[in-house]
Amino acid sequence: MDVLIIGGGVFGVAAAAALARRGHAVTLREAGEIPSEEAASRDVSKLFRLAYGAATDRWAPRVRAATEAWRTLEAETGRRFLHPAPFFAASSTFAPGTFERESADALARIGGDHEVLDGAGLSRAAPALASLGAAAALVDREAGWFEPVEAVRALAETAVRRGARLLERSRVERLDDLEADAVLVAAGGWLPRLVPPPPETRVTSQHELFFRPGAGTAPPMPPWSFDIATAGFYGFPPLADGRHKVALHRLGPPIDDPERKPPPADEEVREVSAFVAERFPWLDASRPTWRSCQYTTAGDGSFVFAPVADRERLFLAGCGGGHAFKFGPLLGEWAADLVEGKEIPDDLKGIGGPDRVV
Ligand SMILES: Cc1cc2nc3c(=O)[nH]c(=O)nc-3n(C[C@H](O)[C@H](O)[C@H](O)COP(=O)(O)OP(=O)(O)OC[C@H]3O[C@@H](n4cnc5c(N)ncnc54)[C@H](O)[C@@H]3O)c2cc1C
Repeated sequence: MDVLIIGGGVFGVAAAAALARRGHAVTLREAGEIPSEEAASRDVSKLFRLAYGAATDRWAPRVRAATEAWRTLEAETGRRFLHPAPFFAASSTFAPGTFERESADALARIGGDHEVLDGAGLSRAAPALASLGAAAALVDREAGWFEPVEAVRALAETAVRRGARLLERSRVERLDDLEADAVLVAAGGWLPRLVPPPPETRVTSQHELFFRPGAGTAPPMPPWSFDIATAGFYGFPPLADGRHKVALHRLGPPIDDPERKPPPADEEVREVSAFVAERFPWLDASRPTWRSCQYTTAGDGSFVFAPVADRERLFLAGCGGGHAFKFGPLLGEWAADLVEGKEIPDDLKGIGGPDRVV
C-alpha cells in the first residue's frame, strides 16, 4: 500500500518506521524539520513511568513493552536517549484515591519494581525532595527520562533504513488532492486544521520553566512529581547547563495556532516560582526562563487511533496530552494496525477508556 503520513512528531515517525517494516511504501511529510522546533515531541526531557494512578493496570504493561522497544532502537541505531532512573511521585496525603496511592497499590498487584517511603524515608533517599513536605512518596523503579530529540531521530533513521521517504519542510496544505492508498494524519496540535477533531479534543498551551542554580550546593535531583493529579508539579534532573526544569501538569488555555507561542501566564510563573523558592532553596527562583509547547488531549486523556468519519482511507493518530511520548514504538504499531484495518484496543480509539489518564 502507498501510505502518506502527515506530521513528523513521535506519532508520525513511529508510524513510518512500523509501516515501512511491514512492507508498505511510506512517504512522510513534515512542515518543519524532524523533530520540528514547534512539535510537542521536541523537548529537553520526557518522563517514562509505570505509575498511572487508577489506570496503572492497563498502561504499565504497555510502558514496559515500549521501553523494551526503545532499548532495541538504541542498540540498532547506536543513539543513546534513555536514562533509567527511579521516579519519585510524592504526595501531600498519600490518601486512598490519590494518584500516588493508587499507583502504588496497582504496582504491588502487577509486580512493578517499586517502594513506598514515608516523609522521613523520602528525605533520606532523595534529600533534594526533603522540603516537599510529602506525607509519603511512591518510588517507581521501572522509570526514567528520555532525550526526545535523539529518540525521534532514532525512529526517523530507522524508518528511512526500512525504505520510508521522509520529506522535511513539506507542509500539506489540503487533503483533497493527495495521492495515496491511505493517508494518516499525525499532525499533533495542528490536527483540527486538517480534519474534524474527535469530540472533546483540546489543544492547550503548556509551559516548562527553567531555574538556574542559586546559592549553595544543589543535591542530586531525580525525576519527581508532587500531587501530580491535583497540584500538578513535576520536574527533572538538571540539564547539562545546570538549569532545572519544573512545570505544571495542568491543562493550560486553549490555542488554535500551535506556532504562536504565548508566554506563560503571570500567575503560573508566580505559582511555580513560589513553589521552587520554598521547596528548592538552592535554586534561583527570581528569573526563570520558559519554553512553550502544546498538549493535544482527547476527552479521556487517552490516544486517538481512528478512521476519519465519512472519509475513505483517511485516518488519524494522535492526542495523548502530556503522556504519549514514552509509548513511541507502540504508537507506530497501533497506527500501522489502524491503517491495515486490524483491530486496536478500544481504549485507544478515542471513544473513552475506563479511567481518565493523568
Ligand atoms: C510540555 C509537555 C511535556 C510532556 N511531557 C511528556 C513526558 O514527560 N512523557 C511523555 O511520555 N509524554 C510527554 N508529553 C507528551 C508528548 O510529548 C506528546 O503527546 C507527543 O509528543 C505528541 O506527538 P505528536 O506526534 O502527536 O505531535 P507533535 O510532536 O507536535 O508533531 C506533530 C507534527 O506535525 C507537523 N505538522 C502539522 N501540520 C502539518 C502539515 N499540514 N503538514 C506537514 N506537517 C505538519 C508539525 O510540524 C509537527 O512536527 C509532553 C508534552 C508536552 C507538550
